[in-house]
Amino acid sequence: MRLSQLFTKTSKTVPADETSKNAQLLIKAGFVYKVMAGVYAYTPMGLRVLEKIKQIVREEMNAIGGQELIMSSLQRKDTWENTGRWDDVVVDIWFKSKLKDGTEVGFGWSHEEAIIEMVKQHLSSYKDLPIKVYQFQTKMRNELRAKSGIMRGREFVMKDMYSCSVNAEQHEAFYQATIEAYNRVFDRVGIGEDTYVTFASGGAFTQFSHEFQTICDAGEDVIYLHRGKNIAINEEVLDDETLSKLGIARDELEKVKSAEVGNIFNFGTQKSQDTDFAFTNEAGEKQFVHLGSYGIGITRLMGVVAEKFSDEKGLVWPASIAPATVYIARLGESEDTLKAADELYKELTDKNLDVLYDDRALRPGEKFADADLMGIPYRVVISDKTVAAGNYELKARTSAEASMVSRAELLKTLGI
Ligand code: ATP
Ligand code: MG
Repeated sequence: MRLSQLFTKTSKTVPADETSKNAQLLIKAGFVYKVMAGVYAYTPMGLRVLEKIKQIVREEMNAIGGQELIMSSLQRKDTWENTGRWDDVVVDIWFKSKLKDGTEVGFGWSHEEAIIEMVKQHLSSYKDLPIKVYQFQTKMRNELRAKSGIMRGREFVMKDMYSCSVNAEQHEAFYQATIEAYNRVFDRVGIGEDTYVTFASGGAFTQFSHEFQTICDAGEDVIYLHRGKNIAINEEVLDDETLSKLGIARDELEKVKSAEVGNIFNFGTQKSQDTDFAFTNEAGEKQFVHLGSYGIGITRLMGVVAEKFSDEKGLVWPASIAPATVYIARLGESEDTLKAADELYKELTDKNLDVLYDDRALRPGEKFADADLMGIPYRVVISDKTVAAGNYELKARTSAEASMVSRAELLKTLGI
């Protein structure tokens, strides 16, 4: 993309009420626009990052047999009454509205009940199972506090997956496969080393659920890490019973602040019984479906990466989710320089690399500041000087010094 064509601009200021580091950086870099507290829009630059995260998640969910679909935002009241979750006392974050004829509707804050109702239409026998479906969906939650930037939105993108299994054994196999798929997602996004499978409060059916918690100062949770065993315990379930069950002593644990990037649940057959979600087993008898639910906070994940990978100059995206791999800063307007920069832009783009081409008439310092603020992994300078020398000035976002490289070295560094 040519920056002369991009409608967004970087800025030095942020809205006065924006206190979170992730949103401040993302707003300055022109990746998000704050609509109101807890509500953010994603510009073309921000959308590129979101889509890259989604694509990684999509690939990993498909690899374990997930089928993508999309449910509706508007939810029927009776769908949620079956499980008692229409009640504002039970679920205190509903956004609700009414149709013109007075019919009450809710905006999906989760889609568990809605998915069950749809899948029901397609399930009759044990032969139809297992079913694993997922979606990327904008969830609406009337959160009391929204002070963590895009890490806690009143409107946010979640990947939610649901599994329907014949029994506990089939469920467990998929649950384990999902843990591994989630670990691959967090590795690929660049936060694998700091992300822990965490024992957290369960639900009606199991004592624990599993959260994926990433060490992050801006996170709202507190977990206790066992680095040796590579597991963690959410402080909400940290007691003697949990410790003895996991064979861990309290003094082996390290307390850290963290952000919940994912959460997976085993619902057993509880929810299926509440919603009469059943099938006919091999013996011809009615049997309730064993259910699992698996979430990843897509926009929160982006916020966590922005928090963790940034410095005083701005964002520092991991290459896997960067909006572009390389930032071409063209300095000067001479014919040769224009030609060299245009050619490199075309060549890299033709090779399917995402490129930001700074073809604007700005001072070098302004271009370099934008490249750093936007967090693009590599910056290439093309100027009268580099053109005359027949090489390129290359700098990684994470290194302090630039170096002069040949064309072959440049292409090799960019992985083409
Ligand atoms: P939290 O405890 O942070 O409020 P939750 O346990 O209510 O989250 P889940 O229902 O488990 O959230 O949703 C699945 C995932 O969606 C979470 O693990 C989190 O990453 C993300 N998420 C939840 N609420 C928000 C929010 N308000 N803004 C952004 N992401 C969210
Ligand atoms: Mg959760």
